[in-house]
Amino acid sequence: MDSATARGCLEPREIEQVGRAAPGQLSPELVGHLASCSTCQKRLLALDAPEPAKRGKPDGDTSPGQRLLRVLLVLAAIIAALLTMLRLAR
Ligand SMILES: [Zn+2]
Repeated sequence: MDSATARGCLEPREIEQVGRAAPGQLSPELVGHLASCSTCQKRLLALDAPEPAKRGKPDGDTSPGQRLLRVLLVLAAIIAALLTMLRLAR
């Protein structure tokens, strides 16, 4: 368990799950934590950031633009879920 996980943050495995999941498939717990934790938001973004060491060869099926779009979709889903929770809380 690293220091981030000890603070209640997502495990690296869970961050990867969020990166791969379609918006709407994420559990409310994950979304709720991501919405309130800038550390995990940065980790999610870093997950999809292209690594400079990777020989400059793009993934076969996913261009960097598509990956960025997917991250934005996930963030939009997080914001939508947050707004829904705020509405329900009233
Ligand atoms: Zn966190």
